[in-house]
Amino acid sequence: MSDSIKLMPLIEGRSTDSTAKNTFEVVNPTNGKPLLSIPVGSEEDVNRAVASARTAFDDGRWHQTPPSSRKEILHRFASLIEKEATALDALDAEEMGKPISVEFCNSIAAAGLMHFYAEALDKLSGDVFNSDKHSFVTQQRVPVGVVGAIVPWNFPAYCVVLKCAPALAAGNTLVLKPSELSARSAIRLAQLALEAGIPPGVFNVVPGTGEIVGKALALHQQVDLITFTGSTAVGRSIMQYAGQSNLKRVMLECGGKSPHIVFDDGVDLDAAADAVTQLILTNQGQICSAGTRLLVQDTIEEALLEKIANRFKQVRIGNPLDPKTTFGPLATAKQYARVMHYIDIGRDSGAKLITGGGGALADTDGYFVEPTLFQGVKADAPLAQEEIFGPVLSSITFRDEDEAIRIANNTDYALAAYAWTTNLNRGMRLASEIRSSVSIYSNKPSGEGAGHAASYEPTGQSGFGAESGIAGMESYLRRKTASFNYG
Ligand code: NAD
Repeated sequence: MSDSIKLMPLIEGRSTDSTAKNTFEVVNPTNGKPLLSIPVGSEEDVNRAVASARTAFDDGRWHQTPPSSRKEILHRFASLIEKEATALDALDAEEMGKPISVEFCNSIAAAGLMHFYAEALDKLSGDVFNSDKHSFVTQQRVPVGVVGAIVPWNFPAYCVVLKCAPALAAGNTLVLKPSELSARSAIRLAQLALEAGIPPGVFNVVPGTGEIVGKALALHQQVDLITFTGSTAVGRSIMQYAGQSNLKRVMLECGGKSPHIVFDDGVDLDAAADAVTQLILTNQGQICSAGTRLLVQDTIEEALLEKIANRFKQVRIGNPLDPKTTFGPLATAKQYARVMHYIDIGRDSGAKLITGGGGALADTDGYFVEPTLFQGVKADAPLAQEEIFGPVLSSITFRDEDEAIRIANNTDYALAAYAWTTNLNRGMRLASEIRSSVSIYSNKPSGEGAGHAASYEPTGQSGFGAESGIAGMESYLRRKTASFNYG
């Protein structure tokens, strides 16, 4: 499969040469060696892709296809993703280091998400408002038009599907800019979309760097909505580009600094330690919603930290393509330097290093770091305020519930929060008082929750706009009103 992926723009259903002369070198994070090169992209590439998506939207080749056919095509697309899931995960693992053993947000999950939106496609209705005897008003939900999607590298295939599935189900056409670090699975997904029967021009991909391709897409006059997942810093620029160009709609899913709170009220500390560890170490901590701030009630701090430290020491660090590996390398040398920088800041701040704090598997030249745990971090310290995007957990103690809530809400971000308590009333209060989405646990989590049906909406400097669920499809629709007056 890898040979059939041409690292060039996929426009109007065809691989076409980029007009860019320069290339971007992708390095294999497992051994530090060059892996492949992709074009840096150009404004011209973006212009061609947007023109294709514009024509495809305006001539209705997708949104005017009967819903039953579109549904069948999206289900077929999902099945093709399922069939190639192992290969797609391997591409991502090689480029950015996510172990193939990690099921969270893998390609099978992406296929499930695509099936969800295929099924949701014809479930949305509009409204009819009564007026008086001789008039009434309708409101249809119509696609927004041409969607520009810019995605990060941390869950490459899944992040692509999280954008393209609801956008396509809503009837839009699309120009996708994958991360320059992980473009192969994105291009392959667009090829599978064609194979499934999505008409050429509906799903275009332009690989390249953010400063060239991402910026040109967000500034484009013919893009009606830009949906972005990535850092808060780039999210700010995206809003500016929208304002400087055509006031396109903006959806931003940005960074986080999520609290994981554990109360001393009878909580099963082993279950809590498992959950805290899993959340901070999945994908080597390169996950926007990771519980990076451990807020622990002072009376159980020592006991809980000991359990977490033991679990940190048990990860199997290694090649992400090895099915036994649970913890791979960081994605890039830049990520490695960033994480090490924050570990140095932690050491200098007087926080106590409980475990980790160094590189790992040095003989491989890969970007491996040890899972790292700091105790006694101050709630306003950089370690507790800034997104590290790596396997570094900062423990902060609190005395009572009020203090826990105050610390939990004390960041610019508000993406997710997790809390362990056996007290139902307390769980209710936390869910109400904490700004972001909240998960309350009293015991080892069981079941799969709401699956793809629940949507999540960040706030604060974590962004805005719902993703996942039916609300995630509504994000790609607008309400169109018509008034009828008759005699
Ligand atoms: P990033 O912001 O550096 O890049 C994200 C995407 O934006 C990439 O495709 C990049 O090429 C592009 N880009 C960069 N500069 C650009 C510019 N000037 N104009 C337009 N596009 C530009 O983020 P990253 O390093 O790829 O990913 C990590 C970040 O993503 C973290 O901050 C993480 O929290 C965030 N993230 C958030 C969510 C969420 O759902 N909230 C999910 C995953 C990742």
